[in-house]
Amino acid sequence: MIIVLLGPPGAGKGTQADLLSAKLGIPKIATGDVLRAALRDGTKRGLEAKAYMDRGDLVPDSVILGILQDVMTSPAAKEGAILDGAVRTVPQAEGLGKMLKEIGKKVDRVLLFDVDDEELVKRLSTRTVCEGCQTPYMGRDPGAKCEKCGGKLVRRKDDEPEAVRNRLEVYRRQTAPVIDWYDDNKMKVLKIDADAPVDAVTKRTLKALGK
Ligand code: ADP
Ligand code: ADP
Repeated sequence: MIIVLLGPPGAGKGTQADLLSAKLGIPKIATGDVLRAALRDGTKRGLEAKAYMDRGDLVPDSVILGILQDVMTSPAAKEGAILDGAVRTVPQAEGLGKMLKEIGKKVDRVLLFDVDDEELVKRLSTRTVCEGCQTPYMGRDPGAKCEKCGGKLVRRKDDEPEAVRNRLEVYRRQTAPVIDWYDDNKMKVLKIDADAPVDAVTKRTLKALGK
């Protein structure tokens, strides 16, 4: 099953994608994680993305479609994938649809995590993430240890207030139209009220997926 997770930055896509991945037994693919790993490894793709990411702008569609082409044709995604923040513009939604069609697959479900701006800003301003495996945490200080891999927790540069403001604006301008695009293409977008404790959101999500 191929599941697309949509929602503004801080809506809990990464948190829920990890939990869903464990429950459903399909891998999570987060383009943000792929890009940060590329940056850490100093690859061409990472260096190309850096300036966009630091400002909170979207990296070019061609870079994202290149990543999606690589991962969706890889053996890891044979049983499907949970695409976390991987579709953020209409051209990306179109490109993903086309590439999946070529390999006899399609997007099966689109979920939208809905949270109001005030709560998003609160979550992002206190988020720490593991610099190794990228697991997001709440209520933990930078420098603490990751429960999953023992890596160090850090603040993300793009979680600073100015970049957050820009990311919310970019979401409204460039990503929100993807919701209508899926609706217009006869793919029902399942909206989930994600302003609730993590386990309640997971329950709502599984219910929306019919699980
Ligand atoms: P996204 O991937 O959509 O940007 P994350 O999963 O990284 O969102 O979550 C953003 C921040 O909010 C993290 O610090 C995370 O621990 C926290 N968070 C996630 N889900 C919830 C929730 N249901 N309630 C409160 N905080 C949450
Ligand atoms: P968040 O979880 O807070 O929404 P991500 O880790 O998904 O943030 O993304 C971080 C940054 O990586 C984005 O602000 C953007 O610069 C870049 N990025 C990730 N995915 C995409 C995408 N599908 N299209 C364009 N840029 C992306």
